[in-house]
Amino acid sequence: MATQEKRRDLRFVVIGAGMAGVLSGIKLLEAGYNNITIYEKADKIGGTWRENTYPGLTCDVPSHSYTYSFEPNPDWSHLLPPGAEIQDYFERTTRKYGVDKLIRFNEEIMACDFRDGQWHLQTRSGISDRADIVIAATGVLHVPRMPAIPGMDSFKGDIFHTARWDHSVPLDGKRVGVVGTGSTGVQIISALSTRAQKLVHFQRTPQWIMPVENRAFTEEEKASFRNDPELLKYMQNEPEYVANVERFTNAIVEPDSPAMHEIEAIVRQNLEDNVRDPELREKLRPNYRAACKRLIFSPDFYEAVQRPGVEVAIGGIDCIEPEGIRGSDGTFHALDVIALATGFQADQFMRPMNIVGRNGVELNAVWSERPRAYYAISIPEFPNFFMLNGPNGPVGNFSLIDIAEHQWHYISQLIDKVASGECREVSARPEALEAFDRERIAAAKSTIFGSGCQSWYLDAEGVPATWPWTQDRFREEMAAPRMGAYELV
Ligand code: NAP
Repeated sequence: MATQEKRRDLRFVVIGAGMAGVLSGIKLLEAGYNNITIYEKADKIGGTWRENTYPGLTCDVPSHSYTYSFEPNPDWSHLLPPGAEIQDYFERTTRKYGVDKLIRFNEEIMACDFRDGQWHLQTRSGISDRADIVIAATGVLHVPRMPAIPGMDSFKGDIFHTARWDHSVPLDGKRVGVVGTGSTGVQIISALSTRAQKLVHFQRTPQWIMPVENRAFTEEEKASFRNDPELLKYMQNEPEYVANVERFTNAIVEPDSPAMHEIEAIVRQNLEDNVRDPELREKLRPNYRAACKRLIFSPDFYEAVQRPGVEVAIGGIDCIEPEGIRGSDGTFHALDVIALATGFQADQFMRPMNIVGRNGVELNAVWSERPRAYYAISIPEFPNFFMLNGPNGPVGNFSLIDIAEHQWHYISQLIDKVASGECREVSARPEALEAFDRERIAAAKSTIFGSGCQSWYLDAEGVPATWPWTQDRFREEMAAPRMGAYELV
């Protein structure tokens, strides 16, 4: 960072107070900046952990690894953190670092326009603001994908998307349908399998399931985490998990590696060993490679679908009727509640916000084919505008917190160029983005995500919209921007 005495007093606007927006606030304060506003469209922080409150909500990244590196938490209740605890953790951390004072809640940014060397922002309620630097921390999976199922409006019971869970609706002893077999649908099935009178899992495409342990930490363990900072640090970087992450990210990049074959063998064995009924086993058997869709980690999904009252309905949905769902095989399932675990529109990022860069260049036009950004962070003609968890960014199945921290380290060096007076505007060069994108696309096609299945990882042209190289390469690239790829004005 430029030394504080010599640098410009920059004005920052951060969009979104989820994990990445709060991180930005913490890091900016830590660097001595204090002219910062974080605009948040909702009335609380938390992003995905605020919006998702469905039964069974758990993160499949180990608790101690799902923390900011600088803020370990000795009090996680389980090996895998429940959603509500994650939300508490972020709320606590936001207050502890004084970031709560920077946030303007219930203010959705609608427009963001670069004029006269500054960003001009407008909120839905009519507030205008200006910024030298904008950080877009809007998240990836925040616009629910509502399926177009005929008759959906005719349903007389309760129907909602899983990211809009209606907690006033009773579930115990009810007949519940869950549409979708992603990480969300699988967690809900596990949670409701002991509560609903009848639970129907509408599975259009089966998923491979990776077994995972999720026990509670004992009080003794938590006390030792509290009393031993070294142990807590060790837990954050627990060697077995770190090695698994590395093995998995490498396997994604090399679908024919022994590591990927080992993953496939584990998920196949999980299905063979844990689903007793051969007919059900075949219903649950995917016909594509493991990890082609985002791999699902579950300690108990197979157990849940074999409980009395739980049924797996395959083959798609014909329509929704006033009393329930009719499958495409003609079977009718009478239901009181339908939960749509149908995922998210993963290509939205900051949109529907209207963003206009230098010389009137509109983001919607630049992204008309697909969202693109140099290293997921910077877009040509959108100077001093940086994204956290931007397009084509996800690295494997793993912690977006870790990814965001590395991206912040990279962005902070670009901010430094402006703060030090070396330039007033910094953005990726168009030719750098073109070259990066060409290389990324070629690599992405040969990852496991491109091995022949449908998933939210694929863009409109069927190319995986992910980081296509190893985690090591991600870390190396994020260590320092290649400044030749940037235009400094
Ligand atoms: P998703 O992975 O996109 O899954 C959506 C599901 O809905 C799929 O099974 C899809 O079937 C089905 N579907 C969509 N439209 C349908 C229709 N019209 N009729 C029938 N089925 C339909 O969504 P998600 O489960 O919400 O997960 C999204 C992502 O959120 C995850 O991949 C993960 O990144 C994140 N997440 C993470 C965790 C965690 O523990 N870390 C937990 C939950 C979510 P097809 O497969 O046939 O398309």
